[in-house]
Amino acid sequence: MALAALWMPVGASAEWIKAELTAYGPGCPHCVGKRRPDGIGAAGHKIKPYLHCAADKSIAFGTRIYALGQWWIVGDRGSRIRGNRLDLALPSHRAAKKFGLKRERVWVER
Ligand SMILES: [Zn+2]
Repeated sequence: MALAALWMPVGASAEWIKAELTAYGPGCPHCVGKRRPDGIGAAGHKIKPYLHCAADKSIAFGTRIYALGQWWIVGDRGSRIRGNRLDLALPSHRAAKKFGLKRERVWVER
């Protein structure tokens, strides 16, 4: 993603990582349990489908990640989201299940 490098603020670092991508439905009791029925993410704001994702705590809230042809913003955590695993917010549980597990190279702007 050569273009992404042009947009980076001074002092930021970015890298490609090999990631395991899964998906979840914000507020879905099957995906996030009963902890966040309101769809609020660990960063304290509403999780929006096709915009936010959950990542390991080594990736700060607000970090931009380019994956699957679009940008995602880290706004959530998950007990099973460790290391290079990312959980992408999709509109529904059904969409998340259909997504399954994908292994992709993703661009992380720290
Ligand atoms: Zn679900």
